[in-house]
Amino acid sequence: RVAIEIDHVCKRFGAGEQAVLALDHIALDIRENEFFTLLGPSGCGKTTLLRMIAGFEDVSAGDIRLYGASLTGKLPFQRPVNTVFQSYALFPHLTVEENIAFGLEMRGFKPADINPIVAEKLELVKLSGFARRRPHQLSGGQQQRVALARALAPSPRVLLLDESLSALDLKLRKEMQVELKRLQRETGITFVFVTHDQEEALTMSDRIAVMSAGKLQQVGSPEDIYDRPANRFVADFIGETSFLQGRVADGQLHFGVAGSLSCQVLDQPHDGAAALAVRPERLQLASSGDGLGGVVAEVVYRGVDTVYLVQLADGQPCRVRHTNDSGASRLARVGDAVRVAALPGAFHRLQEAGH
Ligand code: ADP
Ligand code: MG
Repeated sequence: RVAIEIDHVCKRFGAGEQAVLALDHIALDIRENEFFTLLGPSGCGKTTLLRMIAGFEDVSAGDIRLYGASLTGKLPFQRPVNTVFQSYALFPHLTVEENIAFGLEMRGFKPADINPIVAEKLELVKLSGFARRRPHQLSGGQQQRVALARALAPSPRVLLLDESLSALDLKLRKEMQVELKRLQRETGITFVFVTHDQEEALTMSDRIAVMSAGKLQQVGSPEDIYDRPANRFVADFIGETSFLQGRVADGQLHFGVAGSLSCQVLDQPHDGAAALAVRPERLQLASSGDGLGGVVAEVVYRGVDTVYLVQLADGQPCRVRHTNDSGASRLARVGDAVRVAALPGAFHRLQEAGH
């Protein structure tokens, strides 16, 4: 069931020559109970889209509907939507419980109902013993939990989270990622989560919308986005990717003078020029025989894995990744002549060329 319909929404800031088109005909559906992520680089329009769902910005064109009903003309507090901001926006002079109660009072909840809700939400975010503290007596992670409890208190149908974890250090951020997933599952509320961090998006989301410069690039599951990127931008922004120019003929993938690979390694094996994207973990250094000839230009040891930057014999660079679980952290050194082999389906053919 669709919760939010973003129906060809545009957002223009300013007028005339100064005008900025921050969102350009965005069309997507967000489903009920889904952990949905808007992902893209800084300035691509994520916050603007979130603010339009919340009602802090008007739409310039198009419409946003919640369960089929247009939100146009509805003020923020009239929408069954709540937002968690990156800055938490807690009131410093109020205690934790007063911070959580505030939003309920604003929405006209009866005083008798407020205390039980506050207690329940504090338990939900595991801060039951902290009701009387003030924000400055809490760690960053605890403040984040208070902000979540406050946003969840009025039981919104949709929770919007704008870069909510980016102020936390890496370890705490990983913990809060797990925590957010749990909260989403336990409450059954539709979460719309904004991040510029592709790894965070892949880890947390049921589905992801990738945006760039105000345009929607792709919507799909993490697997869709990672394995079948719609275009070069998505392939480049998500994960590590090598781009290679090749040619397909007679069931073989050819690269200049460097030899060929079987077309089993390609997901679209029709003949012709091919713009290819390949993930480093789908390539392997081969001892002899098979694969493309090249020379190791760089070895990057990263603990869990090692990445070899290989200059293929036709001059194209590609990255090859080996995990270090077998203790094979140095399969080759800089300057070694190697062969690069590919796993089945390794190469994804990009749409822009090679039809
Ligand atoms: P993101 O959250 O993805 O970093 P934003 O939604 O904040 O991106 O911004 C998208 C674009 O809209 C940017 O070019 C930004 O400068 C512009 N923008 C955002 N808010 C305003 C505003 N109030 N007035 C003018 N331009 C704005
Ligand atoms: Mg933003």
